[in-house]
Formats: sequence, C-alpha cells, structure tokens
Amino acid sequence: MNSSFMQKVVVLGTGGTIAGLRDDPKDPNSYQAGVVSVGDLVSKAAKTSQVVLESRQIAQIDSKDMNHGIWSQLLLAIDNCMRDDGVMGVLITHGTDTMEETAYLIARLIKPNKPVVLTGAMKPFDAHEPDGPKNMQDALWVIQALFAASTPCVCVVMHGVVHSPYKVQKLNLQSEAPFYSNAPAPQGSQEALGVMATLGEQASTLALEWGHPHAHNDSFNWGKTPTLFAFAACNTPPRVEIVMSHSTMGEHNMLHTLLAELKHFKLNSPNSHMALKGLVLVGPGAGNLHQALHAPLVELMQLGVRTVVTQRAPWGGGGKGIRVMLNHGQSGSQSQSKEESLELGISALSPVKARVALMLSLMA
Ligand code: ASP
Repeated sequence: MNSSFMQKVVVLGTGGTIAGLRDDPKDPNSYQAGVVSVGDLVSKAAKTSQVVLESRQIAQIDSKDMNHGIWSQLLLAIDNCMRDDGVMGVLITHGTDTMEETAYLIARLIKPNKPVVLTGAMKPFDAHEPDGPKNMQDALWVIQALFAASTPCVCVVMHGVVHSPYKVQKLNLQSEAPFYSNAPAPQGSQEALGVMATLGEQASTLALEWGHPHAHNDSFNWGKTPTLFAFAACNTPPRVEIVMSHSTMGEHNMLHTLLAELKHFKLNSPNSHMALKGLVLVGPGAGNLHQALHAPLVELMQLGVRTVVTQRAPWGGGGKGIRVMLNHGQSGSQSQSKEESLELGISALSPVKARVALMLSLMA
C-alpha cells in the first residue's frame, strides 16, 4: 500500500435503512429502505471526510432481498478496487438485516490488499438524529487506520465498534448497536468507543488476527472455495436450505417435505437446479437434533445432500460432530454402530453464515 499515491475511498451503495426515507415523519418506524442514492450519502459524508470519496450504486434494496446477482456485482466491484492503485479502501453501505452474510461472503472470496469496511444504520437517512452519517464517518476512520498501518482486512463497523465478518451477528433490534461478535458487546461509553484511536485499535487487533485459522471462528472443514469469478459466473447457485430442530417436532416435518420434493426431482428432472444440494440443520444445545429428523435426514444424505449441523445458541462453539443412526432413530457421540450411522460435522458459524459456506463449498 503506497500511501503517497492512494487517497480515494470508493463507496459502494446497496441500499438499506442508511439510505431509507420515512413514509410518515411522525412515525420513526415506518420508512422505506434503499431510497436515497449512495451519491447523496457520500455528499453528506464528504463534508467531514478527510479523504476523497467516490460513489458507485450497486443496488437499492432492503437487504432482506439480497440475491446472487447483486452479491456478484458487489464482489466484482470490490475486486476492481483491489486492482486500482488509486483506491485506498472500500466502504460498503448495506442494510443491517443481512450484512453479516454479505460480510462473511466477502471475507471468504476477496483477498484484501486494502481495507474493506461495511456499515449501515438503524435509523433512516431523514430521521431526526440519523446514525448513518456517524457510522460512515467511523468506517472511514477505520479504513484510514488500517490503510496507514498496512493491515488490510474485511470488517463491519457499527456504532463505534469494529466487528469480525466471521463472528458478527445482528442480535438486538432495539438499539443503534444491533451487532455482536460472538461475545458480549464491549463495555464503556459510546463516546469513548467512537473516537478514532479506539476504532483504529479495534481494527488493528482484527487485522492482526486476519489469516489465522482461529479468526474464522470455525474449525469445520468446508473444503475448497470457488474463485469470485466462478461465483459471479454461476447463474444458479446450489440450493441450500436451513431447517431448525425444535420441541414437539412432528413425525412429518420439513425434512420429509424436502425429501419428497428431492425424490420428485430425481425422478422427473434429475438435472434441475432447484433440487436440494445442501442442508444446514440448526440444533439446540451442542447441536442436538430431534429424533424425528433422523430418518428423513439419513435418506436426504444418501441422496447426496451435503449436510452440516450448527447451533441455535448465538455464541455456539462448534463441536466434534454427531452420529445419526440409520435405523434406530437415535444419536449420540457414544454410538458404536459403524455400518448403520452417518457422521455429521458441527460448525461454529451462525446458521446463515454456514449456509453461505456450504453453498461456496458446493460451488468449488
Ligand atoms: N431492513 C433494513 C435492511 O436490512 C434494515 C437495516 O438496514 O437496518 O435493509
């Protein structure tokens, strides 16, 4: 990173509340996400920014509607910035609802040679006291700090805190600090957390961990990763569903529905891209699965559906794996049966991140 030459930060806009406008000025909760252009967000941010900002509109959506096409465009735009010596960092404005999935995807597919920071807001652009401008300012501080220290990495910056893309999750809907990163939020006054030095320190700690396997928050072996070009060229990403294990699970549950559908595809249209390829199971406790799930699960796996177990607890720690019995409908790591059981790995990633990871491994 040559600091004398690279001055510009490219801001890639995807929509979200940060670009939202209120429907009714009296009701702060009624607004539409993704209305204000990234050019307008940048014009406002430029008033306090110490670096030159350039904007590019990738999408204008509520992030609940994120799709493969927008992800691909975003990745290609970031990759362009990585190759452009005139760019010192990338700032992505994004809805908070699915920011954790996009951040994880970027971290897996982009090898950053300069900082890539995502931010958003919990209040719309025209709110009485919007949080978006402050979050953008903080994100720009982090980009400058990481750039100055020559420690590029991908991170999320929100409400004065820097979060790892591997760990960040939206857990609090009633606060301007909705994100947590696998640990309780840092203690301390928000004013103190918001200063540049603290942000820079948090970012550097994250960047130092970058590339270390433990930073990935997951010892699960996902196998190969596709290139971002292969990802972007794929029009129909493999279908991966998430199913949660819960109390009073019936003998006819979602896995039976998926199984019946898969059998139908195998029989009538074996090459259909709509056929299920991967399954993320979300289990309580250490990743335990209700016994009503076992029989259809084994059949799905025998039909080639790649499966991973995750944990319902937001600060799950992964685990060694569990065994699902073919005939007996029981599981447990103590099981002795060799021929009649299947081994399932447990990932410490959140279910939505594990879904992205499984999709990537199926694409590779
Ligand atoms: N629904 C919005 C979005 O994710 C929420 C937000 O941005 O905070 O686009």
